[in-house]
Amino acid sequence: MSECLRCGSRNVITGRIVSSNQKKAVIRPDHQKFWAFSLYGGIFLDGPAVVCLECGLVTTSCDAYALAQFVKKKCEPRDDSE
Ligand SMILES: [Zn+2]
Repeated sequence: MSECLRCGSRNVITGRIVSSNQKKAVIRPDHQKFWAFSLYGGIFLDGPAVVCLECGLVTTSCDAYALAQFVKKKCEPRDDSE
């Protein structure tokens, strides 16, 4: 059974994240280089999703390797001091 990462509630349901046109949604990292083209605009959120019925937090997953490569190639270096 899943538990909300924010509030700890077990009142959660599962599903999948899709865009309003029924295509897969993507995570588009902040600080993408303005000239960096990507076919889908990010990395697909293709993992199962869990949404908390108490606080609304949604969690899901993506291909971590693909996301790391996307960030490495298409995003400005992170400033971890922020
Ligand atoms: Zn919650």
